[in-house]
Amino acid sequence: MSPSTVNEHHPVIIVGCGPVGLTVATNLARLGVPVLVLERNPGVDQSPRASAYQPCAQAELLETGTLDDVKKEAVINDRLSYWIDKKRVAYVEKREGGQVFPAGINCPQPQLAAILLKHLTTRYHSQVKFNQNVIEITQHDDQVSVTALDATTDQKTQYTCDWLVGTDGAGSGVRKLSDIAFEGFSWPKEDFVATNIRYDFYQHGFSTANFVLDPVNWAVVTILGAEKDLWRIAFGVRAGLTNEEIKAELDEHYKEIFPVWPVKYELVQLNKYKPHQRCAKTFRKGRVLLAGDAAHSNNPIGGLGLTTGLLDAGPLGRALAAVIQGRAPESLLDTWATARREKVQRRSPRYMEDRRCRTRTPDGAVACEGHSREERRRPEVFQSSRRPTGSAHEPDEAVGDHDGPDVDGTVRGP
Ligand SMILES: Cc1cc2nc3c(=O)[nH]c(=O)nc-3n(C[C@H](O)[C@H](O)[C@H](O)COP(=O)(O)OP(=O)(O)OC[C@H]3O[C@@H](n4cnc5c(N)ncnc54)[C@H](O)[C@@H]3O)c2cc1C
Repeated sequence: MSPSTVNEHHPVIIVGCGPVGLTVATNLARLGVPVLVLERNPGVDQSPRASAYQPCAQAELLETGTLDDVKKEAVINDRLSYWIDKKRVAYVEKREGGQVFPAGINCPQPQLAAILLKHLTTRYHSQVKFNQNVIEITQHDDQVSVTALDATTDQKTQYTCDWLVGTDGAGSGVRKLSDIAFEGFSWPKEDFVATNIRYDFYQHGFSTANFVLDPVNWAVVTILGAEKDLWRIAFGVRAGLTNEEIKAELDEHYKEIFPVWPVKYELVQLNKYKPHQRCAKTFRKGRVLLAGDAAHSNNPIGGLGLTTGLLDAGPLGRALAAVIQGRAPESLLDTWATARREKVQRRSPRYMEDRRCRTRTPDGAVACEGHSREERRRPEVFQSSRRPTGSAHEPDEAVGDHDGPDVDGTVRGP
């Protein structure tokens, strides 16, 4: 191990170069507060995750000045279809966003993050350092000490900052090193798989977002962005499979989801995730603040994760800038932390259960347990695979890392 480099001091350090960290950073930088973003990976994460952003999330992108660029790579997603047994049974056109913010826009998360990164570094001349894995944090009365390790050189760098923002995802090291519990539960019996594929779903009457309702082979099928034939198919599998094992049985899932079969498609990416329903015990501990997945993580169905993350990020950036510049008392950060946590606690579990159930028919059981398709439709099997009770709302640090590439470090590409 090489010796540590010289201490660098920054007013604000943000850990994690995901869309939430970049949004906090942009809000600070555009108000004149210099920021440093530390990211453990060599670049922006490329795993297949968020694609859909609702009007409130678009409003935060507008604040950062990136909405126009995002819209260039996005497609308007305001038509939802519901499918049962390969037939479209219902169709909804959403109008709530009006003309300024369409009801939904779809843009792959890596593209969104790349646009935010470009604006932050070129327009606001802020610093982002890659290959900086934050491994130690110590809080003092007047500052926070941070140690980051560059795995490519084995070099450690020491930093200090007045404020540290943890936007390092659901497996957040900032949260763990700050000893903040991640309360809630992880769905024990079903993992969530996101696949990106090239295929023309429009030819079968699919709209921009589609919910395939089935007790076993439920799925969400959406167009990903401006690229016409690139689609996301998300579905559930029994917990514990590797990406390779899921790939091996992929056609077994697809043949139940596609409207016709067999078909030719191109698999572009596949990754599985452990779904959670968790929330940090506090979003502020002294000079450490948590936002995005580091603060709360939920089942991806319904596109709540990044949307709520962006709603943490914008107000946090603006509040922190006001505190640093003496325009607001420090207690504004407590107001932010309490308000955001209450919002997540009050809305997220009910919304997620609603969204989860919407993809299942009323007798629905999840695709796990090793039962046959017919067996899984039995009510007692459904009950056994529903929301866990024993572990609900208890901290479960045994889950370790969470969504995203944290899960098993594999992924990407067929
Ligand atoms: C399949 C799927 C589909 C989804 N679809 C949607 C959707 O349509 N709409 C929606 O709103 N949400 C969606 N979500 C949720 C969304 O992806 C997350 O909410 C979002 O990624 C959270 O962003 P973030 O910036 O908080 O965290 P992340 O995107 O996880 O970014 C965290 C960053 O921190 C870095 N990091 C981690 N640890 C360290 C460390 N120790 N030091 C330095 N850097 C570190 C990571 O490398 C990463 O770059 C989906 C999620 C999944 C899994």
